[in-house]
Amino acid sequence: MFSPALFLFDLSSEGRLLLLTGDAPSLPPLGAEDKYSDYISLSGRVVRGDGESDVWARLAPGADAPEGLSPVDRRSVPELLGQDIYIRSGIAYQVMNLTLRNKFCGVCGAEMRDHDRDRARECSRCGNTVYPTLSPAIIVAVERDGMLLMGHNATVPDGRYSVIAGFVEPGETLEQAVEREVYEETRVRVRNIRYFASQSWPFPSSMMLGFRADWESGDPQPDGVEMTDVKWVAPDDLPQLPPSVSIARKLIEDWLRRVKEADAPPPTTLRPII
Ligand SMILES: [Zn+2]
Repeated sequence: MFSPALFLFDLSSEGRLLLLTGDAPSLPPLGAEDKYSDYISLSGRVVRGDGESDVWARLAPGADAPEGLSPVDRRSVPELLGQDIYIRSGIAYQVMNLTLRNKFCGVCGAEMRDHDRDRARECSRCGNTVYPTLSPAIIVAVERDGMLLMGHNATVPDGRYSVIAGFVEPGETLEQAVEREVYEETRVRVRNIRYFASQSWPFPSSMMLGFRADWESGDPQPDGVEMTDVKWVAPDDLPQLPPSVSIARKLIEDWLRRVKEADAPPPTTLRPII
């Protein structure tokens, strides 16, 4: 059964979620937005198809977190509070951004309001309607003889490597985006691109489209800007991996499983008992 929740975000660029600290972290109870009104600049509802709704709220500029609440990276929410709350916190975050960025109409300057039916904002004067932004991005496991192409991005912690990813550009197919991103970031050419899975990635508003591909030519070379290192990784020499919630991690685990299965000795043939 659905139980409405309050998602309170701080002002950091990725919107950390404020949780009650205690033995086990938890969401502040619904209604607490009134108690925290001095700390909150804006709040709203996340209406669902069944008419129920969660509530989002955002800390006021300059306000510290209310006592008893601490910010956490939303990537850790699946482990702390489960997958359902993680997904709902991501939706709440994106609905909050839609509201924050569309208080006034970009066409005529009048105030905007929530759309009657859709998850959107609508101009009260000219009818201009704005939907949440989703930015498609590809992410790809490139494989060669049981090895995986991985890179260290300049923005992630030292020692952490992941598979190759990047935003789709206007005019591109997803396959072209895979070819271009892999080549730009590693100087490797790929072939045999096939779909793996997709994942909403609300940091802040990506739609990750996962693929697998095979090496065709080229030795990995980092671009030196986005990627500071790129290399082939063997299953027994793994670097630090991205968080388990990510599709990057799922692509890596899928590759690992297949490589290990291929390495496993064939099942023993049982001799018939005579
Ligand atoms: Zn307007």
